[in-house]
Amino acid sequence: MLQALLDSKDFLALTLANPHTFDGTFSFKLGDHTQVEVWDTGVIVFEPVHNEGKDIVLSCGVHGNETAPIELCNGLITQLLQQKIIAKQRTLFLIGNPLAINNGTRIIDENMNRLFSGEHSNPPGLINPERIRAKKLEAYVDKFYTSVTDGRQRIHYDLHTAMRASKHEKFAIYPYRPGRAFSGEQIMFLAASGVDTVLFHHEPTTTFSYFSSERYGADAFTIELGKVYPMGQNDMTRFIATHEMFMRLITAKPLELTDFDADKVNLYQVCRVINKHADDFEFTFATDVENFRSFPKGFVLAREGGQDIKVEQEFESIVFPNAKVPIGNRTVICLIPAVNAHVR
Ligand SMILES: [Zn+2]
Repeated sequence: MLQALLDSKDFLALTLANPHTFDGTFSFKLGDHTQVEVWDTGVIVFEPVHNEGKDIVLSCGVHGNETAPIELCNGLITQLLQQKIIAKQRTLFLIGNPLAINNGTRIIDENMNRLFSGEHSNPPGLINPERIRAKKLEAYVDKFYTSVTDGRQRIHYDLHTAMRASKHEKFAIYPYRPGRAFSGEQIMFLAASGVDTVLFHHEPTTTFSYFSSERYGADAFTIELGKVYPMGQNDMTRFIATHEMFMRLITAKPLELTDFDADKVNLYQVCRVINKHADDFEFTFATDVENFRSFPKGFVLAREGGQDIKVEQEFESIVFPNAKVPIGNRTVICLIPAVNAHVR
């Protein structure tokens, strides 16, 4: 397995050829500057002999059909293995769901990005590939962050692409972090990476990024990099800025960020969540409406049980609409421009 990786320098290919697990761990040196450790299928760590104090996790493929981030990460891994770039920060790459990637589907049995912070082991327990893998991924993140001394900056970018189009092509979800200010530096890093829109989430969740944010105090985000396309059909020119900034981050090149300026980014906060109360719940807009589409006050967004559900604010923008959820679950999140977010 080691020889296969040294020959091909294609970690994704090795992962997809062994999607369940690797036959043990292995490690090797790149020159005299980097220790590489492979902990499992889809799990590779670059450990510089000297690092600049950041512990960076880049995860992709938590949803198997979201291929652009997988290609982006594998490109960086290959550049590192070829020593075309040299890591100057500790960096952990995670290819989340190799079984689903091979399947060409978002999931095998269950949405993995609702299984973190221990949810994988709640009833009915570790019954499917996503639950088993989510538990392992948590353990790898824990090992990565806790195997060095405290006081370092922890970063986790969990990379996705979205099923629907978006008014803002690339956007990030900033996990709920009570008692901690949002990082203006992180927001400007994302903007420089082409991710010019940030949604401040409003409650605890069971996503991967919330896990790293809440459990390890990481600067963690779920990042949507555009729309889903099959493997090999992504226009990688749409990711030049993202690749460039991730590369600078890993190699500790100057980031050249401008000071935080709310006028240079689109910041949204949640104004409400609309839950489903009746089987006949339906939206009035087309099913393929784009994320962040805004509607004016009084507009009828949805109907259920003979009642109209109207826009209450001057304007409300919607994200992740889905009428086909069980009663009691969320159908859509309504947003307004972030006015009083604590950014520092
Ligand atoms: Zn996703």
